[in-house]
Amino acid sequence: MSESTALLKKKANVIHIYSERITGGLEKRGSDYWACCPFHGEKTPSFKIDHREGEWLWFCHGCKRGGDIISFLEAKGATFQEAIAVLERSAGPGSEWHRHSRQVTGSTKPLGITTDARPKKELPADYLLPLEEALQSNAAALRWLKNQRGIEAETAKRLRMGYVQTCDHVGDKDQDIGGNGWITFPRIEGDKLVALKYRSIARKAFAQMPGMNARALFNVETINPFDLVFVTDQIPRISLLDADGRLMGRCRGAINGAHGISGDADGNLYLAEVFGGRTQKYRPKPGADPSKLVWGRSLMPMAGTSSN
Ligand SMILES: [Zn+2]
Repeated sequence: MSESTALLKKKANVIHIYSERITGGLEKRGSDYWACCPFHGEKTPSFKIDHREGEWLWFCHGCKRGGDIISFLEAKGATFQEAIAVLERSAGPGSEWHRHSRQVTGSTKPLGITTDARPKKELPADYLLPLEEALQSNAAALRWLKNQRGIEAETAKRLRMGYVQTCDHVGDKDQDIGGNGWITFPRIEGDKLVALKYRSIARKAFAQMPGMNARALFNVETINPFDLVFVTDQIPRISLLDADGRLMGRCRGAINGAHGISGDADGNLYLAEVFGGRTQKYRPKPGADPSKLVWGRSLMPMAGTSSN
């Protein structure tokens, strides 16, 4: 959670957001709020909202789910971006959050981890094997990865990326390209596949395996062997991993919502950040393998050029 997201949660009228989305509304008892749980059928309230750790958190004593306002909105079916948009609307355009968000700098404080006890679909990691084989034997898909993302076949293999010709989980607006080829990006924990994302090679379009974790950061285990920094685009949380596969996003210098990546002729990497409005420069470690550096080429097209 970025500092700006934490601030946004403070500025939004979080109780109002909860109450608007719970049939029957909230009942105030002392300093807490109670309601009949929106996630399991019940007649007497066991869904509690109380102010802890500086924010309004929810917990249902019946179904044992709980978390913050963002996980509540996600449990109600919103994506992370949609949840942020709800908070932003509540905080209002003239709110302090909007003024502050331009000045927020990195925090050294470890940030709270959202409790989200919703059961998620998992599959054995072996599910990926045919997808991986499909990618390694598909010249067009490998070419797309190489040309559009600078990812070699060997790297894709180590990251367990895969390919499907037809994605069954595309949204309505992408039905026309459902059968036109999709790169798959897994998130693996232990021997389980816990998230799977799809990226069309036909145009900028995404899909995900339903019911799984919505956050598909590359798995730490896979990245460990590399002495590299990996960055992914897209807003769902922070997606920058250090050389040991640790998420860089809970410490000073970390970046939230990385978007816009480039390098320079000295091998430095630059990232622009969506939420904080910052640009960060990352210098290579002394003795870094020059073949692994970015070297002044843009990994993503700049705004105004081709979209992908
Ligand atoms: Zn419940």
